[in-house]
Amino acid sequence: MLPSTPTRPLLGSKTPLFLHPQQTFCNFFNKNPNSQMGTKPFSSKSPSSLPAEAHRTTDAEAAISLQEWQGWGTISPVPSMVKQVIQDLKLLEKDIDSEMTFDGNHGKLSGDFKVHEDKKHRAKYASLGNSEEKLQFFSARQIACRLLGSRGYLCQKCWLPLEDCMCSKVTTCSLWHKLRIWLYMHPKDFLRQNNTGKLLWQVYGVQAASLCLFGIVEHEEMMWNELNHAGRNKVWCLYPNKNAVTESVKDGVGSAVDPANEDGIMHFILIDGTWSNSNAMFRRLQDRAKLVWGQELRCISLNTGVSLMHKLRPQPSWDRTCTAAAAIGLLYELQLVPEFRSFGLEKQAEAVETALEVLLKALTARRLRMGRSISRRERHNRDIC
Ligand SMILES: [Zn+2]
Repeated sequence: MLPSTPTRPLLGSKTPLFLHPQQTFCNFFNKNPNSQMGTKPFSSKSPSSLPAEAHRTTDAEAAISLQEWQGWGTISPVPSMVKQVIQDLKLLEKDIDSEMTFDGNHGKLSGDFKVHEDKKHRAKYASLGNSEEKLQFFSARQIACRLLGSRGYLCQKCWLPLEDCMCSKVTTCSLWHKLRIWLYMHPKDFLRQNNTGKLLWQVYGVQAASLCLFGIVEHEEMMWNELNHAGRNKVWCLYPNKNAVTESVKDGVGSAVDPANEDGIMHFILIDGTWSNSNAMFRRLQDRAKLVWGQELRCISLNTGVSLMHKLRPQPSWDRTCTAAAAIGLLYELQLVPEFRSFGLEKQAEAVETALEVLLKALTARRLRMGRSISRRERHNRDIC
């Protein structure tokens, strides 16, 4: 993987959304397994006094059911490559007679099993014929490991450890029915506790704010079917590419849609990944758009002004590039467009702001409880959210 940088591209440098870029929500809650949980490996299974052979999960238990898969916040079928990777992991367990264990964050393999699996997946990766196959395998493997490691550890809805579940404090809200948000998420952000994109479907529901995992064919097909149906003029990507022409929300969206007409649904794609990963994600979207429409996706950038600034309740730990904040900014800017004034977008944005505050509190409480500093000295570690 490319090295990551501590910034993310969603809002662009001209966006003065939050004034404390040095104090980022993302970096505050960096997941450094060594600093957070110690290096003790966690098993995906409950401890048992039975002999290892007896408590090893069966193939049926290891498989991901549709219900379990969709419980994590998606409406797609279980991706076939993810199923395959899980089967291969179980086979490897048998072959080497060593149980799968996971690191402190439950997202990566650890210990002896990891050593064997590393060799195996590298060989598999090298054997794949082209970059598309490699990407799909990379994504499926990431997702499979996170799914198995997070079982019984994370709450499926809020992606927090079960003892920190914040679900009872989240208030849902209907997003205006003409809007649909796609969280185009990098596999490394899937099931991350401090990911904020997940808040969007927690608040608006999975039909209004849908997860689309980068490199997962079932997800990308589902999204592109909808985008095709809507047509290029109803689709925007919130990503201010330096080399691409971006429009403002007012000019781009405001002029394209007359909400009084039965114009169909407007789709907004938010790229949910680190800066370095986002470039590849953006390229993949644009390649597909050119294939489908012969033209690139329309890109919008937020150009927040005074009116937006004073509506937001700035939190020093919110990153101006955090995904939920991007959605909040988008809704506030749409609200300023005269044609969109009467759809309650401000209230819908506030619902996510409130959820973001709840997440921040939950993560802070967890950190304090585990005896970790809440200072931001670790901000240069890997960025996420
Ligand atoms: Zn929860």
